[in-house]
Amino acid sequence: MYSKSKKQFKESKKYLAGGVSSHFRMIFHPVPLTYKSAKGSKLTDIDGNIYIDYALAAGPIVLGHAPNEVLRAVKKSLKNGQLYYGQHETEIKLAKKITQIIPSAERVRFASTGSEAVHAAIRLSRGYTKKKIILKFHGQYHGWFDNQMLGINPLNKNNKVYNSYGTNMESMGQLPSSAEDIISIPWNDINVLKKTIKKYKKDLAAIIMEPIMCNTCVILPKEKYLEEVRKICTQNKIILIFDEVITGFRIKLGGAQEHLNVTPDLSIFAKGIASGFSLSCLVGKKKIMDFLAMNKVIHGGTYNSSVLNTVAALKTIEIIQKQKNIFYKRLDIVRKKLTDEFYKIAKKKNININIQGIGSIFHISFTEKTILENHKDYLETDLNTSQKFIRKMQDNKIRITGRGTWFISYAHTNTDIKKTIKSFSKSLDCLNN
Ligand code: PMP
Repeated sequence: MYSKSKKQFKESKKYLAGGVSSHFRMIFHPVPLTYKSAKGSKLTDIDGNIYIDYALAAGPIVLGHAPNEVLRAVKKSLKNGQLYYGQHETEIKLAKKITQIIPSAERVRFASTGSEAVHAAIRLSRGYTKKKIILKFHGQYHGWFDNQMLGINPLNKNNKVYNSYGTNMESMGQLPSSAEDIISIPWNDINVLKKTIKKYKKDLAAIIMEPIMCNTCVILPKEKYLEEVRKICTQNKIILIFDEVITGFRIKLGGAQEHLNVTPDLSIFAKGIASGFSLSCLVGKKKIMDFLAMNKVIHGGTYNSSVLNTVAALKTIEIIQKQKNIFYKRLDIVRKKLTDEFYKIAKKKNININIQGIGSIFHISFTEKTILENHKDYLETDLNTSQKFIRKMQDNKIRITGRGTWFISYAHTNTDIKKTIKSFSKSLDCLNN
């Protein structure tokens, strides 16, 4: 089933470090597979296996792979050049559009990846407030840079390097000195947050969070949690940053902030905004964003707002807006159809599962718990079974992310749903094999 991919992986290790181009692609079974094409909801590997794809490039593919309208627009733009080392009209049109659709966006800065835009948000927050500490939350991933990749797996005993606030590094080579002044605490617990604020408020520049914790089994904020955090930030002159790299364009065009009606000071959008083209943006309040000015906070990037990436993003927004309410309703319906059936099947087979999701994102955990509220709850689920399940689903031609997060695209069809439900049932049956 995977013989060509296995052979290819052996070969690729001779040239690519570790055989991959991102650490997070190392995890797949039986080796990281090699793919040859993707269209709509399907992904094809070099062995000819065709998967219904719910990994969707770890999120970006909202319309489906290779959407014709986006490709046509990009193709048309190619002959006009890719990079000018200067401004262009599409970039301005796109920025205007973004200020109309994202509640917190009074000004926009483009970058190429989520990590870069988060980095800009951290530097801007420190520059604007003249304070140094950034508060983040256990289990939340904001990028792979030295000052971002902390406190993601705080209970993992292998991580023994900590900064002076007790926040753990995640990678060899990450020095406490380059990751100082980052504190990580449990999310969704307002009392822990209040205690931390009390202790550090005079040094706290920003609080950064995924407003819905998609990187850990899709955890929704408890009632009033975000509203309380918003209030605390305003009272203490702390910048509130929403990392909407996953939630952006996957729940509503305006992100989780539109859906939950809480407006941060700064936010980062990436993955979903450009149909797989590499565009991210930092958006926020004018008075803060205007610190990205001459002789103040510096942010650069040769490839920022390339013609091709901005054309792809503008077209993606146009397509979603053309569908009016139908777009997000349909994604919601697909999620509900799948997850309702999954629950029914698991119940029949006496297997305890928990599914948490919103919009076009969901996660299945193997646990008796009916609700998971934080990273600790997630760690108490049966992660071994979860990994086995992901592998079995792949053998049954359904691809989900290595963490077990499912993404749905506008290209997923009723036939896909039926096939997925069948594969789900089959995969549960062979969990013990
Ligand atoms: N923030 C969040 C919430 C993410 O999920 C990710 C990527 N998984 C990032 C930031 C980093 O984005 P990128 O991989 O584009 O650097």
